[in-house]
Amino acid sequence: MPISNSKLLLFCGPSGSGKTTIVRHLIKTFPELSFSVSATTRSKRQNEVDGVDYYFLSVDEFHKKIENEEFLEWEEVYENGFYGTLRSEIDRIAALGKVAIFDVDVEGGIHIKGRFGKNLLDVFVKPPSINDLHHRLVARASETTDSLDKRILKAELELTYAHRFNHVIINKDLNVAFAEAEKLVRAFLQK
Ligand code: 5GP
Repeated sequence: MPISNSKLLLFCGPSGSGKTTIVRHLIKTFPELSFSVSATTRSKRQNEVDGVDYYFLSVDEFHKKIENEEFLEWEEVYENGFYGTLRSEIDRIAALGKVAIFDVDVEGGIHIKGRFGKNLLDVFVKPPSINDLHHRLVARASETTDSLDKRILKAELELTYAHRFNHVIINKDLNVAFAEAEKLVRAFLQK
C-alpha cells in the first residue's frame, strides 16, 4: 500500500511535555500501533536501547544518511543534536501491517503534517505551564544545566505553534491525558 494511503499518528510537543509517555501508553493499549524509531546523534540515556528507543548514530553517520536521502524529515533539534525519521521505518511498519506512530519535535511534526495530510491524526501535547515543564525536566534528571536551558528556551517557542495542530492535549494529569489520547486514537482507527 502506498505510504500516503496508510493511517499515521503524530504526537508533537516540547521536550518534557510527556508526549513520549503518552505514546508508550498508546502502543501498549493499541496492538495495531508501532513506534517509528527515529535516528539521533544525542547520547544514549541509561534506560534506552539502541534500535528500540532510537537508532543512535554518530554525526558523520547521520550526515551520510542525509546525503543518501534516507530521511523523510530531519532536524537539528539542538546544536549538534540531530534527529530524523527514516523512510525505512515507514516501510518496516507498513510491512508489519501496522499503523506508525511518530514522536517528533514541533518542526518535524509540521513537516510530517505537510507530507501526509488527511491520513494523519496529529496531536500537540502541551504542558500546563513552562514552570511545570521545567520541574519535569529537572525531575527526569536526564539533562545537564546547559541542555535543560536549551530545552526550556526551545519549548517557549514550540508552544506558540500549538494552534497549527488539529488536536491539543494539555498534560496536567497523566491519566486524564491518557484517556483523551485513547479516545482520539480509537475514533481515528475506527474511521
Ligand atoms: P529527546 O532527546 O528528549 O529524546 O528528544 C528531543 C526532541 O526531539 C523531542 O521533542 C523529540 O520528540 C524530538 N524527536 C525525536 N525524534 C525525532 C525525529 O525523528 N524528528 C524530529 N524532528 N524530532 C524528533
